[in-house]
Amino acid sequence: MNLYEKRLGHLRTAMQENGLDALILTPGAPMRYLTGFSEAGFERLLALIVPPGDRPWLFLAPALNADQVRRNPAGVSEVRVWDDGAGWERLLGEVGKDLRLDTGTIGLDDDMPARFSLKIAELMPTARLKLAGPALSALRLCKDSAELDAMQRAADATDALIPALLAACRPGATELEVALTVRSGLAQAGHEASFDPIIGAGANGALPHHHTDRSRLHRGDVAILDFGAKVDGYCGDITRTVALGEASDEACRVYEIVYRAYRAGVDAVRPGASGHDVDAAARRVIADAGYGEFFVHRTGHGIGLDDHEPPYMVAGNHVPLQPGQCFSVEPGIYLPGKFGVRLENIVTVREDGTARVLNQEIPAELPVV
Ligand code: ZN
Ligand code: ZN
Repeated sequence: MNLYEKRLGHLRTAMQENGLDALILTPGAPMRYLTGFSEAGFERLLALIVPPGDRPWLFLAPALNADQVRRNPAGVSEVRVWDDGAGWERLLGEVGKDLRLDTGTIGLDDDMPARFSLKIAELMPTARLKLAGPALSALRLCKDSAELDAMQRAADATDALIPALLAACRPGATELEVALTVRSGLAQAGHEASFDPIIGAGANGALPHHHTDRSRLHRGDVAILDFGAKVDGYCGDITRTVALGEASDEACRVYEIVYRAYRAGVDAVRPGASGHDVDAAARRVIADAGYGEFFVHRTGHGIGLDDHEPPYMVAGNHVPLQPGQCFSVEPGIYLPGKFGVRLENIVTVREDGTARVLNQEIPAELPVV
């Protein structure tokens, strides 16, 4: 049984458990997981249709993508093509009737654009539409050994960018120029980025998801560097924090607290522990040091074909962690108007229930570059 047949078997079970008769998926991680085919996804409808029962899957594709879709690694052979003149609505309506999609519950991928989902609702008014996210993400929660290999390669490719990135952090450079080091390093290695690098220097670093811009770095700045390589579809994601030229006592103290919170988060990955426990362990260190109100996000997110996916290391997630799961541990302290510190590595849960860190060790003291 090949990889995709195995995944199909698991998908059938997940669909039954979630009350889904059929699926319509637009490009994204679920489509890639099930068929090996990926595509950015544009305003033209490109969809994988999983019909009810044992009927073979099919793709609906715009004419300009048809050849690429036909080469999908899972070997889905039926590709119904539409062209710009005719549009896709009529074809989808026909397929919906032929396959009796309109008599049951259709799962749509969570990221499907409203221009498609609302049109599906209009074309198949008797169908019930439901988010397929819970069923689809459950399939990808625990990585198999080939996936864990890819996760390790993504982690290695991400770590390999660190030296050039640190070298680029010098007074006078802009955040965008520092981010360019990530982009050119990835291009040379033949990889993509998991997401747009976040380079946040000085007060910009106090915004956890600062949008990298033309701000210049200054001597004494604390800079957050958050970036990742994508290898064979799987995402890397790390954050390092450095000081330029010199580091204030406050910056060193805050860094040391975040480092201890990171360690506590990793150490909390134990048999029976949940995402709630990992979050609580990291948060306790920061709260005990008096900075609780400045740690404004969850401690981590799952990662795989998507850079953010379940499981989440967040208060209230009491589901026990499982071997093969991969997620970030990334506590931070953000001091408005001053600076931020975040430290992040990716871990996977080993068979014995403890964490294996996929990335290089994080320095225990604030590096001055
Ligand atoms: Zn990150
Ligand atoms: Zn992350």
